[in-house]
Amino acid sequence: MALEELYREVILDHYRSPRNRGALENPTTQADGDNPLCGDEIHLDLMIEDGVITEVGTVSQGCSISQSSASMMTDAIKGKRIEVVRELTAKFKGMMDIESGHDPGLDPDRPGSVLGDLEALQGVRKFPVRIKCANLAWTTLEEALASTEIS
Ligand code: ZN
Repeated sequence: MALEELYREVILDHYRSPRNRGALENPTTQADGDNPLCGDEIHLDLMIEDGVITEVGTVSQGCSISQSSASMMTDAIKGKRIEVVRELTAKFKGMMDIESGHDPGLDPDRPGSVLGDLEALQGVRKFPVRIKCANLAWTTLEEALASTEIS
């Protein structure tokens, strides 16, 4: 299977069967995000215990890119320590940052890539208007984590 097809399959799979859907009852922190350009909206709940994200819940609507990105994000962060999640967020945003001219160095043939399924979204780089769709869940995640530092 061609890589682009594989990527499309991954995105469609997350779009059709989103992971970690639904609000949490007693989240440690939460945040809302939206992308008015496209009409994407997300509400994100996190349960954090001893520095680890133990539960994730989302209520969201929008285009396939925003929805599958949100689903992949929840999958990627669940069970991880906050500092690891921050690194992952930086890596993902680095991958999507076309303006910096920085090549994230994602080689599809390289085994054991750090971002895993998330690399399926790198094709979005070809459509700059959709990058905000892909980044929405991650920007909302950053907001949710930022508000935990205050408390
Ligand atoms: Zn969108």
